[in-house]
Amino acid sequence: MTDQLLRPTTAPATVVVDLAAIRHNVETLRAAAPGAQLMAVVKADGYGHGLVPSARAALAGGATWLGTAQQGEAVALRDAGITARLFTWLHVPGTDFEAALSRDIDLGVSTTWALDEIASAARLLERPARVHLKIDTGLARGGAFGADFDRLVADARRYEREGVVTVVGVWSHLVSSDVPDAPITAAQIVVFDEAVRTAEAAGCRLEVRHLANSAATLTAPRTHYDLVRPGIAAYGLTPLPSVASSDELGLVPAMTLTARLASVKQVPAGQGVSYGHAYRTTTETVLGLVPMGYADGIPRNASDVGPLAVAGVRRTIAGRVCMDQVVVDLGPGSTVSAGDEVVLFGADPAGPTAQDWADATDTISYEIVTRIGPRVPRVLVGEEALT
Ligand SMILES: *Cc1c(COP(=O)(O)O)cnc(C)c1O
Repeated sequence: MTDQLLRPTTAPATVVVDLAAIRHNVETLRAAAPGAQLMAVVKADGYGHGLVPSARAALAGGATWLGTAQQGEAVALRDAGITARLFTWLHVPGTDFEAALSRDIDLGVSTTWALDEIASAARLLERPARVHLKIDTGLARGGAFGADFDRLVADARRYEREGVVTVVGVWSHLVSSDVPDAPITAAQIVVFDEAVRTAEAAGCRLEVRHLANSAATLTAPRTHYDLVRPGIAAYGLTPLPSVASSDELGLVPAMTLTARLASVKQVPAGQGVSYGHAYRTTTETVLGLVPMGYADGIPRNASDVGPLAVAGVRRTIAGRVCMDQVVVDLGPGSTVSAGDEVVLFGADPAGPTAQDWADATDTISYEIVTRIGPRVPRVLVGEEALT
């Protein structure tokens, strides 16, 4: 998908982000939820792909909302000139809610303290805050649980009558969306529908009900309601790795991580490699030095298991992952040279993929793409997809 000629960098390692892939993935997700609007979740720097470029690509693909966990991320989107509806939900006491309200940002609300602080900010600004009340349908993370939700609705209605708040949404988040037909999903839908009835019976005029993340957008139409909130699938990674690959879902991974070999050298059989000599060569062989380490987001538990492709051949990290580098055993007689490209992961379904890294290191692809360090430059390709 990415062309070596498009990589105008001599950096030791590079992240290439394909904006056309993000646009395509959002179009694919929209087709999976034709009755709902789509909020692209771009939290955590667009899952490591870049906040503003990812947002623009998602909007080009038909997203009408953008979602972020932290308010600062939503503020950055608005200040970059993005005019779409923005939604943010993870607040701490003392947050400068005026910064969000003055930028016309919708706020998720799980607690009465947040509602009170938002109402105070709205009163000062003399403009009503648009809030989405979050019901805890079973995840026991964010959201108001049980009778706390009824209290939240009652308080929100009081603020609505005062004119400082408008309740535009009820929303929640799923426990096991990556397991299609999980019984907990059906149970969460029941609690969610009850919360919607509670809010409407209290007089809230809801514009959007939203529950689905990527996996539910692709597999659980009953969770689509008015708005779906996919994140990982917009970046082309499967949210259901035990069910279907990205390729099988029609998704194209947007991130390619490459490095350039810093050195290549001959060593004898029996040579211990990297800290602690956790790896030992079995024959005379050629070792390559890859200038990326745990400071760049290579998990240290990728030692001896992290997959790479060098000159099109699948290899595995030899020995321990260091802070700035890893070693790869290129095999006897390797003709690879210093400066040659190493692909850590990318869009090719043959791999390695970010999912292969997740499988090798016992995590999820979300963690692989969000943890690439700031030392690694991001190069954007496919920008024509934004116009
Ligand atoms: C991160 C997040 C999403 C997106 O989840 P994916 O699994 O990446 O699709 C949606 N909603 C909330 C509340 C989230 O925190």
